[in-house]
Amino acid sequence: MDTDLARAWVLAIGVAVGRNKDRLTRLDSAIGDADHGTNLDRGFTAAATAVSDPGLDTVGAVLTKTGTTLVSTIGGASGPLYGSAFRALGRVLDTPLADPLAFTGALSVALASIQKLGTAATGDKTMIDAYAPAVAAFEEQARRRTEFAAAAAAAADAAEEGMRATSPLRARKGRASYLGARSIGHQDPGATSTALMFRALADAAANPGT
Ligand code: ADP
Ligand code: MG
Repeated sequence: MDTDLARAWVLAIGVAVGRNKDRLTRLDSAIGDADHGTNLDRGFTAAATAVSDPGLDTVGAVLTKTGTTLVSTIGGASGPLYGSAFRALGRVLDTPLADPLAFTGALSVALASIQKLGTAATGDKTMIDAYAPAVAAFEEQARRRTEFAAAAAAAADAAEEGMRATSPLRARKGRASYLGARSIGHQDPGATSTALMFRALADAAANPGT
């Protein structure tokens, strides 16, 4: 990942979140408070503006700016969680160019920071159920020296599989956990937005300069 791809990724997430805003909110209305789509749309619209600053000249600068913008613009649980993840990526990737192994290391730190803040484990029906398999898939590809775009595509596939697997789970963290067994049968909104983020990364990496 270079600085242009970091910027393109954030913009691509903004486009994906904008297109899926109503779907994310519908998922959150089933097991939450119907604000996940508007929360993320507000956050990534602000982040898209923030990262257009040409003074951000490393991958880390772009991703840290994204994280601080998400924290300051999203009111719900997802703001601090995604914000801390992007800030962790930014902290680790203090470089103009990160290879797949360096990006893997950063993703692991980002996942750890979401888990430190939210204390959710895999199977709790949260964004972790998409994020953790995505990180594992990216790492597996990076260790095989797969190129960045293909590793990102594998991560997106794993995130989408993890997202779909949240439906039969009973929520143990966040607002959905208040519903107990009634949370079963609904796909988690945060796992869904995490899958959008990894798909946006795969698409941006596959189409540099667009
Ligand atoms: P809120 O729940 O405050 O309304 P959002 O609707 O924006 O915030 O985000 C809800 C999503 O946040 C959930 O679908 C879930 O994936 C994620 N989430 C909530 N609590 C946690 C947690 N403790 N750890 C990880 N993810 C969480
Ligand atoms: Mg909500």
